[in-house]
Amino acid sequence: MLAYTYIEQGKFELLEKQRPQIKDSRDAIVRVTLSSICTSDLHIKHGSVPRALPGITVGHEMVGIVEEIGIDVGSVKPGDRVTVNVETFCGECFFCRRGYVNNCTDPDGGWALGCRIDGGQAEYVRVPYADRGLNRIPDTVSDEQALFVGDVLATGFWASRISEISREDTVLIIGAGPTGVCTLLCTLLKHPKRIIVCEKSPERIRFIQEYYPEVEVTTPEDCKNFVLQNSEHGGADVVLEVAGGADTFRLAWDCARPNAIITIVALYDKPQLLPLPDMYGKNLIFKTGGVDGCDCAEILRLIEEGKIDTTPLITHRFPLKDIGKAYHIFENKLDGVIKVAIISKVGHL
Ligand SMILES: [Zn+2]
Ligand SMILES: [Zn+2]
Repeated sequence: MLAYTYIEQGKFELLEKQRPQIKDSRDAIVRVTLSSICTSDLHIKHGSVPRALPGITVGHEMVGIVEEIGIDVGSVKPGDRVTVNVETFCGECFFCRRGYVNNCTDPDGGWALGCRIDGGQAEYVRVPYADRGLNRIPDTVSDEQALFVGDVLATGFWASRISEISREDTVLIIGAGPTGVCTLLCTLLKHPKRIIVCEKSPERIRFIQEYYPEVEVTTPEDCKNFVLQNSEHGGADVVLEVAGGADTFRLAWDCARPNAIITIVALYDKPQLLPLPDMYGKNLIFKTGGVDGCDCAEILRLIEEGKIDTTPLITHRFPLKDIGKAYHIFENKLDGVIKVAIISKVGHL
């Protein structure tokens, strides 16, 4: 089968590999129908994910059809259309039992797929702990509608869940990339009084204005003033930092009112400064990523009910054989790209 592979720093290649086999009684083999490219894949390519193993098949955002299951898999059966969770988790350890599945203590726990074990930018993928890692897609939900459930949408859902958003709140979301938009969609479900999105790219600002006209939009330069003018208590009640830019961490806490919750969803390339003397007396509450991806069933239900629709994010589609071109466009942000769908097999589009 074809599998997009991490060769060495700066180099991914489409290779012919053996189809994955069941290794453990809790594994499932999934025939991938659609996968996507995530910014984290680029982090691997650029060598900034030290635990990523050369030779690994990349890709951790995908949907497919269950091909084969181990004898201890009970929640899915061959033929089921499923989402695949970015995170591998046992469901039984100290952290899993508390919902902190990102910190699962299993050796493959956390983000392993497409990083430490072979991922899904391929024709088939082996999913460990399939009862936790796979969710059946409702019949009325298409593969494209479900494509982001296991990763960027799970992240947006988790971020808005832990941010304790109420109906009186002014919520600031910094960054309108794919994860920022998913965070926005999930924040809209909480019905806060006001949502302000801060984004620097004119293309992405236009996207937000076109699809989510009820949301206010500002730029990093104007953000602080805009938030002050459009909030009641000297800043945003909740800030979600999804940009991961050079100055966006500072912007996040600077735009927050005293006692605000600031949720850091972004993954930074560099350490960030926490200037406690400047923050003294602001009594801020910081929450940090990565995602605890254990809400996929609920997210699929919300999609089925028409409450979440991420299909506008899919701006480009490529067959797996052309994945190199897809990476080129995604990596260089060409042609108005937001997300790319990689078509591995003819699925249920
Ligand atoms: Zn990702
Ligand atoms: Zn666990």
